[in-house]
Amino acid sequence: MLEIVRIAVLSDNYVWLVHEPDSNGTMVVDPAVAEPVLAAAAERGWTITEIWNTHWHPDHTGGNAAIKAATGCTITGPEAESARIPTLDRTVKGGDRVMFGDLEARVIDVPAHTAGHIAFHFAGEEVAFVGDTLFAMGCGRLFEGTPAQMYDNMRKLEALPDATKVYCAHEYTQANGRFALTAEPDNAALAERMREVEAMRERGEATVPTTIALEKATNPFMRADSVEQLAERRAAKDAF
Ligand code: ZN
Ligand code: FE
Repeated sequence: MLEIVRIAVLSDNYVWLVHEPDSNGTMVVDPAVAEPVLAAAAERGWTITEIWNTHWHPDHTGGNAAIKAATGCTITGPEAESARIPTLDRTVKGGDRVMFGDLEARVIDVPAHTAGHIAFHFAGEEVAFVGDTLFAMGCGRLFEGTPAQMYDNMRKLEALPDATKVYCAHEYTQANGRFALTAEPDNAALAERMREVEAMRERGEATVPTTIALEKATNPFMRADSVEQLAERRAAKDAF
């Protein structure tokens, strides 16, 4: 069993604090900063034992050094980005199995937002941490990769079970959804979801995690039927 706490930091980042009661382990996924994460753990009487990074961007790794200094935790991240994340203790790559206590996660290579971006999938818990690759109704910008790579990433992620809860690293849902409506104006599931999202944001509520089933129904990047269409949509969203 995993207890997962959402910590909202910076303007729109989510850091995920993950606790496993059997092993008493506590992991942080993509700590942008340290203080609010250490405080959230302390409030619950948890000691952070691990950090897992999905990619090198500072809004995902900025808290690494200070959290490690405060807790002595072990930091795991993408092998292909080890030169850009000097705080890593352990590197992993696609296909690797990583244990968190007794729970096993599989590493999935999802390059494109950054060249070595990875995701972590806990199949037994139906949980995936996807960093900046898949967002609610969106995908990450292609800073270090191609539309073809992002198209492949969407195939890998849509292959996960429908019930999988998807923990992405930003609250981008409302802006993504407004763009998605222009890409798929006739998608009724999308229109319905956007009505809910607008209401949730009005009330100041978070809209993530999402699920694979919801993204299959409403995400214009996961739903793009070719590399060309994904490329077109990504370029249109960049200019939206
Ligand atoms: Zn990023
Ligand atoms: Fe980010």
